[in-house]
Amino acid sequence: MSSLTGHLTCDDCNYSFEWMAMIPEYMLTRSYTVHILNKPIANIYGFNENEYRLCIYCPSCGKNLFFVYER
Ligand SMILES: [Zn+2]
Repeated sequence: MSSLTGHLTCDDCNYSFEWMAMIPEYMLTRSYTVHILNKPIANIYGFNENEYRLCIYCPSCGKNLFFVYER
């Protein structure tokens, strides 16, 4: 399975962390390198040809953060 990784800073508590997300096969239009890493998992809740929309809970304060990953 393919994955995304990135870096995010929480709006609320300013905690910075690395995240990763698994991309379901049907969302793929090109291949990605697979990294299996021990990071918080973001959920992909939307996508189009330009971007993925993701959400993740801040590991520090628990706020639900929404962000965009440009593909
Ligand atoms: Zn936070």
